[in-house]
Amino acid sequence: MIIVMSKNASRQEIDNVEKKLTELGFKTHPIIGEIKTVIGAIGDKRMLSTQAISTMPGVESLVPIMKPFKLAGKELKHEPTIVDVGGIKIGDSEIIAIAGPCAIESQESYLETAVKVKAAGARLLRGGAFKPRSSPYSFQGLEEEGLKIMAKARELTGLKIVTEVVDTRDVEMVASYVDMIQIGARNMQNFRLLHEVGLTNKPVLLKRGLAASIEEWLMAAEYIMAAGNQNIVLCERGIRTYETSTRNTLDMSAIPVVKELSHLPIIVDPSHAAGNWKYVGALSKGAVATGADGLIIEVHEDPPNALSDGPQSLRPAKFAQLLQEIEPIALAVGRSMLIPHNM
Ligand code: PEP
Ligand code: MN
Repeated sequence: MIIVMSKNASRQEIDNVEKKLTELGFKTHPIIGEIKTVIGAIGDKRMLSTQAISTMPGVESLVPIMKPFKLAGKELKHEPTIVDVGGIKIGDSEIIAIAGPCAIESQESYLETAVKVKAAGARLLRGGAFKPRSSPYSFQGLEEEGLKIMAKARELTGLKIVTEVVDTRDVEMVASYVDMIQIGARNMQNFRLLHEVGLTNKPVLLKRGLAASIEEWLMAAEYIMAAGNQNIVLCERGIRTYETSTRNTLDMSAIPVVKELSHLPIIVDPSHAAGNWKYVGALSKGAVATGADGLIIEVHEDPPNALSDGPQSLRPAKFAQLLQEIEPIALAVGRSMLIPHNM
C-alpha cells in the first residue's frame, strides 16, 4: 500500500502515519519528494484498516501496490537506484566493468590479474573464495584464505572487491572482508541466505537463477530489501534453455524488461552465459547496447590451466582490448566509461 500525503502535510502528520502503520505491524518506507511525501507500507494487508489511515490528518489517498515485488518494483520508487560500492556507482551514467578470475587460486596469480584488470579499466575486482561447483570433486575455493588475498588485492590496486557467499553462517565473516556480496545463480532462491545478506549493509550482486523467471528474480531481490538492504544490483548470467551450443542462453530481453519493472540497476555476466571466451566480446557489446549498467567478466592469466571456468575466461590483454571496443558503444547509447586511452 502506498500512502500519499497531501502537499502541505506537516512532519508531525507524516510521523503520526508512520507510527500508526508500525503499530499495525507494517514496515514503512517514506519517500520524501520535493512536492509530496509518499509512504510505502509493506506488510500483511489484512491487518490494515484502510479507513483508520485514510482519515488521518495529512493523508491524501491510499494506493494499492499491484505488483508482488513492492520494494524492487517501480510503483513505490520510480527513479533509478544508484548502488554505491565504496565510491563506485552502479546504475549511474558510467558503465562499470567488474573483472577477475572465477576463483582465487593463489595470491601471486590473483594479484597479477588484479593489477592488469585495473590497468585495463575494470572498476571492481571479482573472485570466488567459496565455489559452488556442480561437482563435489571440483576445486571448492580457498575460503577465508581467499578473502584475505582479495583484501590484499584491494590494498594493492584500490579496486573494491566482490565475492560470492554460499552459506548463511559465513555472511558476517564475508561481509567483514568485501565491499559487495554476490549471491550466485544456484542460491537465488535460498531465502534464508537472501534474508541474511539483507540484514547487512553491504551492496549485493544478485545473479539470476539458472531457471528463474524475471518475476522470481525480482522476488528474490524483494527478500533482501524486505530485510532492510536496498543496495542491490541484478545480474543476468544466462538461463537454461534447449540450446546446447552455449553454456546458458543469455536473456538479453531481461535488460529492458527489468528496466521497465524495477528501479534496480542490472549488469550482465557474458562469461557464465556463453561458457566460451570467444562469445564474451559480442555478448558484452550487445548487453551495453541494450542498456545494461555494467558487465562482470571472468579474466584469467592462463585459462587452459584455470581451476575453474577456464574455457570462458579472457586473458588480461583480450579483456583490455574488449573494454576499448565497448567504449564507443557506451557513448552511442548515452553512457560513459572510464578507461585508459594510451594503451
Ligand atoms: C561465478 O560468478 O563464478 C558463478 C559461480 O556464477 P553463477 O552463480 O552465475 O553461476
Ligand atoms: Mn565462474
